[in-house]
Amino acid sequence: MAYRIAIVGGGLGGLTAALLLSRSGHEVTLLEQAMSFQTEGAGIQLSPNASRVLERLGLGPTLAARATATTRSRFRHFRTGRTITEAVLGERAAMRYGAPYWQIHRADLHRALQEAAEATPGLSVHLGQAVRHDEIIHQGDQLSVTPVPGPFDCVIGADGIHSQVRRWCFGAAPSRFTGQVAWRFLVDSAALPSALKAPESQVWWGPGAHFVHYPVAQGRWVNCVAVQEAREWTEESWSLPGEPGALRSAFEGWHADVQALTHHAEEATLFKWGLFDRRPLPSWHRGPVTLLGDACHPTLPFLAQGAAMAIEDAATLNLALTRFPSLEEALSRYEGWRRPRTARIQRTSRRYGWVYHLGAPIAWFRDRAAPLARARTMDWLYRYDPEAPDQA
Ligand SMILES: Cc1cc2nc3c(=O)[nH]c(=O)nc-3n(C[C@H](O)[C@H](O)[C@H](O)COP(=O)(O)OP(=O)(O)OC[C@H]3O[C@@H](n4cnc5c(N)ncnc54)[C@H](O)[C@@H]3O)c2cc1C
Repeated sequence: MAYRIAIVGGGLGGLTAALLLSRSGHEVTLLEQAMSFQTEGAGIQLSPNASRVLERLGLGPTLAARATATTRSRFRHFRTGRTITEAVLGERAAMRYGAPYWQIHRADLHRALQEAAEATPGLSVHLGQAVRHDEIIHQGDQLSVTPVPGPFDCVIGADGIHSQVRRWCFGAAPSRFTGQVAWRFLVDSAALPSALKAPESQVWWGPGAHFVHYPVAQGRWVNCVAVQEAREWTEESWSLPGEPGALRSAFEGWHADVQALTHHAEEATLFKWGLFDRRPLPSWHRGPVTLLGDACHPTLPFLAQGAAMAIEDAATLNLALTRFPSLEEALSRYEGWRRPRTARIQRTSRRYGWVYHLGAPIAWFRDRAAPLARARTMDWLYRYDPEAPDQA
């Protein structure tokens, strides 16, 4: 059955869904509020559970040329720099999980999806179209989204954490400050020693804080994300300018490598934001209107799985719409497949934040237990194929 589908939001999840659904023969209209596709944020890690979907879309060679193939994730002590534990990625992970682990600049990934969208016949993209919740009209069997009235059979809300489509489905959902703030920034790698440019992701564990960095843009930049516990925060946005002095003092006393990164932060790329959470939704759809990505399961970033989950959602939703003859059944099955996995990732991500930030004396036990636990802990995450959800 071919449907007329409106997708609200052209982020990583919305664009992936638009490509997959168009190629499955549906008539897709994508509405994005920005005048050009957003490339907010700098680096992004794409684990095999997501990269396998992008490879199947034919984007493998383009992305491989723009990405860094990560050789390992290394977890280090905040003061001594000792490697507490590590996960080997690179070729070994590609063999084990059947798809690569990439680190890529978000703009490069977005551009690859956008180019593929432009080359897809029948995919209609409308930029500069912000959809308000009260512009989705469902009367009888008529469904429209002004200002592109349709009619549509199905609307997909891929409009991120402040989703208007979620609001249409379930009303306004209050968010909760998690007690953590984050900075993100880029460092020009020419300013850094070679150990900080290695194609690996490094995660530094310290009391009440952690620090992540990895190279992007073929090693030209090092992408950094630093998280610290804090008492209060009001603004839920990830594009507020950060203050270099505050960043440096937050990580004073940490290993020289971390301080080299905070001291060389490119100020124009430095942003600070509060980490907010929402309660899981009781359902993801209301009638023919459904959700994907951050719109339905915003997640703390400690497992680097937010975009991966949005891409997985897109693949499973496409499968459900193709496999099941009725729209109602397809949307229910999509949700049934996706909710347990995304909830598990949300819970695990929250727990990782707690583990990363332990202080003495418990951190001593964590550091000894971590190498024993690490070997297969990521299998459930990376081995997953969202186009074969029954096998999960
Ligand atoms: C610093 C940081 C680092 C991260 N690192 C990683 C990582 O390494 N790996 C990973 O997998 N995830 C990571 N994430 C999470 C990831 O970025 C998000 O989970 C992901 O972008 C969600 O994709 P999405 O398509 O659901 O929503 P978004 O990417 O938020 O896209 C939503 C789109 O909808 C548009 N939109 C919004 N409202 C409307 C409207 N009313 N009408 C029309 N259009 C609208 C927006 O302009 C946007 O283009 C990170 C997040 C942060 C903040």
